[in-house]
Amino acid sequence: MEKPKLLLHACCGVCSAYVPELLIPEFDVAVYYENSNIYPQEEYFKRRDAARIMADGFNLPFLEATYSPDAWDDATLGHAEDRENGPRCRLCINFRLDRTFRFAKEHGFSWVATTLSVSRRKNVVQINEVGALLADKYGLSFLGRDWKKMNGETISQDRAKRSGIYRQDYCGCRFSLKKKLAE
Ligand code: SF4
Repeated sequence: MEKPKLLLHACCGVCSAYVPELLIPEFDVAVYYENSNIYPQEEYFKRRDAARIMADGFNLPFLEATYSPDAWDDATLGHAEDRENGPRCRLCINFRLDRTFRFAKEHGFSWVATTLSVSRRKNVVQINEVGALLADKYGLSFLGRDWKKMNGETISQDRAKRSGIYRQDYCGCRFSLKKKLAE
């Protein structure tokens, strides 16, 4: 029987090191890199290349969205001072997943998932609420899982370390970079 097609939004190499393995038995998976939040552009490329290496390792197609930092800035305008996991992060997640859903709809995928919940720093409730709303909007299914459960983050980090790919040390946007530099 043919497996359903699932588009997996991936934010970096670390997050892509383990989640695909959990999906491949049930789904026909393609990895989608839409991370217009990432600042600066060199950082975007580093994370993209690491995510691609991981997708190649699983023999999965790797698809890249158009990097659109100006559109991301517009979508999060007025939220520079928000705390992490607050309203700006919700807008950021919505921006990236909305584009992922749109691509999925236009290219015959019936399911969407994201690696974002691998990280302990991310709010899985927020991610899954956004995913569920977008699933309704586009008439697709969202696989809202908490990938950090059962050591998901530790396994992902260990694998990424062993494979020698780039591993970032801030969430992604210019505001999270500023916060990290101030620490
Ligand atoms: S802190 Fe992370 S999730 Fe929040 S807006 Fe910045 S990049 Fe997006």
